[in-house]
Amino acid sequence: MSSSTVISNIATLVTNDPSLGDGSPLGLVQDAAVVIEGDRVVWTGETSKAPATDNQVDAGGRAVLPGFVDSHSHLLFAGDRTAEFNARMSGRPYSAGGIRTTVAATRAASDAELEANLTRHLTEALRQGTTTFETKSGYGLTVADEARALRIAAAHTDEVTYLGAHIVAPDLADDPAAYVALVTGEMLDACAPYARWIDVFCEKGAFDGEQARAVLTAGKAKGLTPRIHANQLSYGPGVRLAVELDAASADHCTHLTDADVDALAHSRTVATLLPGAEFSTRAEWPDARRLLDAGVTVALSTDCNPGSSYTSSVPFCVALAVRDMGMTPDEAVWSATAGGAAALRRDDVGRLSPGARADLVVLDAPSHVHLAYRPGVPLVTQVWRAGRRAV
Ligand SMILES: [Zn+2]
Repeated sequence: MSSSTVISNIATLVTNDPSLGDGSPLGLVQDAAVVIEGDRVVWTGETSKAPATDNQVDAGGRAVLPGFVDSHSHLLFAGDRTAEFNARMSGRPYSAGGIRTTVAATRAASDAELEANLTRHLTEALRQGTTTFETKSGYGLTVADEARALRIAAAHTDEVTYLGAHIVAPDLADDPAAYVALVTGEMLDACAPYARWIDVFCEKGAFDGEQARAVLTAGKAKGLTPRIHANQLSYGPGVRLAVELDAASADHCTHLTDADVDALAHSRTVATLLPGAEFSTRAEWPDARRLLDAGVTVALSTDCNPGSSYTSSVPFCVALAVRDMGMTPDEAVWSATAGGAAALRRDDVGRLSPGARADLVVLDAPSHVHLAYRPGVPLVTQVWRAGRRAV
């Protein structure tokens, strides 16, 4: 039998279980304890009522929340785009074309270099409290390069997304139809064994609505579940396509019509907001308040990638969402944990109630609100993943 551990003397515990604690969506418990057995949470409640355990850890009056669920990243890449960022911050607008720079560097990298880059970013994210992450291909854009990216990713996470349709491969720039045929044919066959999800960048300069539909429909037929880059740089058909195809998530959602918001509100498709992208491109913020008021489920994620959002920090995104997107601190913390889990259709992470995986973050602060109240401060002091202290 595995040994049990209690983490007690927690000033504020975020459970994300409304049936616990104060009855709010965050299910807040004051002066709380969490009991872990093996890789699972087996009990949460007030410290004074905690059952006896083999081991005791004193949280010292700090806040504890579920590990962050980062449901959108692009970590299979090589090279960097410092010069492009520097130029953009000097006045040049972002367009989808910059991805080609990373494609060239990624194709030129060895497997070992790609994997080392991935693990470096995963370590960085874990130190900042991310215990579940999704990542995707999209910088190879050949059958062999996309498949190797996903094979490397699959060794590190279950949440692997095939994004052959990131942009039209430079080699086929004058024949997009041939590239869509490749993405939905031979490339899909090679990639599907490593992936759970299929994604497409539905945007001017990338793929239009009909091409996006062809990509996601082909993926579904191969057993992959759709998610989509939608309505980031301009209005378009992406969000409504996501709802029509029952995608797990529509990601970005910066330019939405009332019909888009209404479609999301009457679906189980999560709107994943990626404020690191707007921050790093000086773009207009997505309106989280509008989505929440309409009843849409909202997730917050980093979009960590070398071009448009080179941050692995979920706490940074929480602070941006509160300061600039109309979210309350409670809503932002929920979206970065339970919201991310919903965007990955997971119910074993993003909460700290019995049966959940024991993934948790200890903040060097008495409350989760400090994630927004103290922006840029490294408050994550301990990270536990699957019942073990990882940081
Ligand atoms: Zn993305």
